[in-house]
Amino acid sequence: MTDHAVSALLNPPDLLPLRGVVQHYDWGGFRFLPDLLGEENREEKPFAELWFGAHPGAPSIAYVGGLSLPLDRLFAEAPEALLGSAAPRLSYRLPYLLKVLDARKMLSIQAHPTKQQAEEGFARENAAGIALNAPHRNYKDDNHKPEVHIALTDFWMLHGFRPLEEIAGILRAVPELTPLMPDFGERLARAGGSEEARRTLLRELYARAMRMPQEEADALLAPLLERLRREAADDRDSPDFWALRAAEHFPLPGGHLDRGIVSIYLLNLVRLRPGQGTYQPAGTLHAYLEGANVELMANSDNVLRGGLTPKHVDVEELLRILAFDSGFPPILEGEAVSLTERIYRTPATEFELSRIALPPGLPVRREARFGPDTLLVLEGSVMAQAYDRLHTLRRGEAILAPCGVSYVLEAVGGAATLYRASLPEPVSEG
Ligand SMILES: [Zn+2]
Repeated sequence: MTDHAVSALLNPPDLLPLRGVVQHYDWGGFRFLPDLLGEENREEKPFAELWFGAHPGAPSIAYVGGLSLPLDRLFAEAPEALLGSAAPRLSYRLPYLLKVLDARKMLSIQAHPTKQQAEEGFARENAAGIALNAPHRNYKDDNHKPEVHIALTDFWMLHGFRPLEEIAGILRAVPELTPLMPDFGERLARAGGSEEARRTLLRELYARAMRMPQEEADALLAPLLERLRREAADDRDSPDFWALRAAEHFPLPGGHLDRGIVSIYLLNLVRLRPGQGTYQPAGTLHAYLEGANVELMANSDNVLRGGLTPKHVDVEELLRILAFDSGFPPILEGEAVSLTERIYRTPATEFELSRIALPPGLPVRREARFGPDTLLVLEGSVMAQAYDRLHTLRRGEAILAPCGVSYVLEAVGGAATLYRASLPEPVSEG
């Protein structure tokens, strides 16, 4: 099919039903996503993520004019039809990627670079001749990767460094970790209210944990894990539980111990209830530990890892991009903007995530104003209408509304919940 024929399919632009792509990463759960998709999963394959977007690695399939086409191809061949007048500002691409994620095992401890760090890192690694798919490549593209997510189940994660007073308490209360920096408490007292001194102290503590020789990490962690095994730590609201689990899930070759376990004690252990979320800005260490969520992020693959992963860990680059802020993260509850919709606002300009709870018999109308909307149904069934065409969406199904298309959503056969990825109002440059 020619490019011209593809753009003709989108003239005028209409709602595009999407089929998401499942990622079977090893850490995925066995039930949540198969259940959402109405699949059996008898052979217990891990279902980690369900992607809706135009990422070239796993583009959604769009149904248009009786054809099934990968969404990245539609964006490549008819960007104006989908992105409207925002196309140049958005570099002719869908700026976000929407996922449903189900973590049975914890994911690596990670942080994402700022846009500027990503641009510099990408150029630097290109100049050094490091292949894009090389395992030790840090920067896969030149974009930042802010993320927002909303829990669908009880959800545990690590997010940002704990308040330093709390870290001082932990280094006292967990005797095996005290040797990491025996005088942390005194040094914190000396730092007083100076933000810069506090940041420097935290940086030194974390750098020490990440740079210590492997034998030292083993010597530090072995007695801790031995004690935790004896105590059979089983409280998910305690870092002990996750430290023990991390040791089980991420054994290093040769019986060595993963220093990422130290981070579990230094980072905030956050438990989200369904409907609560967090935002992960650049430079903030985080890790998903367990649970299912809806996640929306900028279109990038730039991840720097700090352990609990078989993948590449570049300690020096991670230390360079981390913000070394400390404190408990804001928990997003969403701001009610209508009877049906809560927006989970973030500073990101690439995306906006909202949760729409539709009672039966209350249709809502909306226009994809600033770029394409993606609507994903998580509970119940929804009728989506644009012009005079109707589409019925069941759980796990999504539809894309190109920029400028007005649509009506209505729950069918009972209440329904859906999530909408859209673009926030552009910040005026004047
Ligand atoms: Zn992340």
